Amino acid sequence: MRPSSEPFWDRQRETLPAEQRLVLIFDRIKHQLNYAYAQIPFYRQLYDAKGVHPDDIRDLSDFTTKVPVVTKAMLQQSQRDHPPFGNYLGVDFSEVKRIQGTSGTTGHPTLFAISGEDWEHISEAQAMQCWAAGLRPSDIVQIVFPLSLYVGGWGLLEAAERIGAKVLPMAGGNTERQIAMLQQVGTTVICGTPSFCLHILETARAKGIEMASGSLRLGFFGGEPGAAIPSVRQKLEAGFGIRAIDFGNVAELHPCSNMECYQGSGMHVYQDVDYTEVVNPHDPHQALGYNRKGAVVYTHLWRKSQPMIRYLPGDETLITDEPCDCGRTYPRMPQGIIGRLDDMIIVRGVKFYPGDVERLLREIDGMGTEFRIILERRGELDEVRIEAEYDSVGNAERFQSAAEEHLKGGLGLRVVLVPMTSGTFPRTQFKARRVIDRRPTSRQ
Ligand SMILES: [Zn+2]
Repeated sequence: MRPSSEPFWDRQRETLPAEQRLVLIFDRIKHQLNYAYAQIPFYRQLYDAKGVHPDDIRDLSDFTTKVPVVTKAMLQQSQRDHPPFGNYLGVDFSEVKRIQGTSGTTGHPTLFAISGEDWEHISEAQAMQCWAAGLRPSDIVQIVFPLSLYVGGWGLLEAAERIGAKVLPMAGGNTERQIAMLQQVGTTVICGTPSFCLHILETARAKGIEMASGSLRLGFFGGEPGAAIPSVRQKLEAGFGIRAIDFGNVAELHPCSNMECYQGSGMHVYQDVDYTEVVNPHDPHQALGYNRKGAVVYTHLWRKSQPMIRYLPGDETLITDEPCDCGRTYPRMPQGIIGRLDDMIIVRGVKFYPGDVERLLREIDGMGTEFRIILERRGELDEVRIEAEYDSVGNAERFQSAAEEHLKGGLGLRVVLVPMTSGTFPRTQFKARRVIDRRPTSRQ
């Protein structure tokens, strides 16, 4: 058992010089490519069609320039053609231990079949990440993520158990009971989506309960980009009296794909778990390297069941290799996942993410809990209307003018803000849906 004062789960691995780690990574990539080509029809067909063979890949640069990416649409098609798990399962079904899926509320979920051996790798990786984030055996971990098809909550449960912490598996929903149990048991770590946790805070405040003076000391937030948005992080940290830890969640990859360390200086990219590239969003074979914003591409280095090799989820990020004060040599995403490229809003030539609106709104005094972004077309022009709840003790007109000015300055676009009374919008127990696009020919 590691002493709680030990900052590393696996010191040698976590502090390995980056160049040495890249050698190990490339060995694993070769292994994965050979395995996938030999064993998995999905990859053999893809690589044959593109005229690429594992033997052609002699270094990491070849890997980026020659190996095709895999998209969600390709996985969905494979699962339709070869139900239920697609022709990329890789292992015999008898080896499968868990079946999870995407959390999307519409259509067919994409299914993830994970072998027992792979789940063991996941468990070890998640424990290493959660330890770096400060989770310790003495903690009581209240999971307010749904424990459902969505894999994120299970990854945290697994990590907590492996570390020896105590798990309180509340799962999603029932806000008042969450608060009561938190107080009764003396929870020290809360895990959930930022939007549901903000709702817990709002409910506690309405009941006159001051969460910041309670037993909580740490929060793990994922499923949405919120905890990487400084104004959201500040609300969570001040409201609960915690250190907020942001983690990224690409279900095809890992329950928690990247996670901040206790320094909270951006998610570490655990390159020897999932090799991570940043590429040109218009050309996945063009590496952008460090400190440039682009599309992220992930590769499982250890997975045998449904391995992802150059999976492109459509997320935008930037990775830096500037050292972190924690001493880990893994690079970081200082701004977290900036947004899903599919969710980018373009109005009158101005590009922004829903997260940009959230950051600006939460910087305004008098902002309440929830908001909606409504996109409409008036005549020839697209208009942005933002309906935002204001604090129950605040003044609607003052909030409106402050918000319109702040949003205009931050987005570079004039928007109409409609102040709404507190409690107008339904509270989510999982991920908030905040964009309503009413423009003609739009997808939504
Ligand atoms: Zn760090």
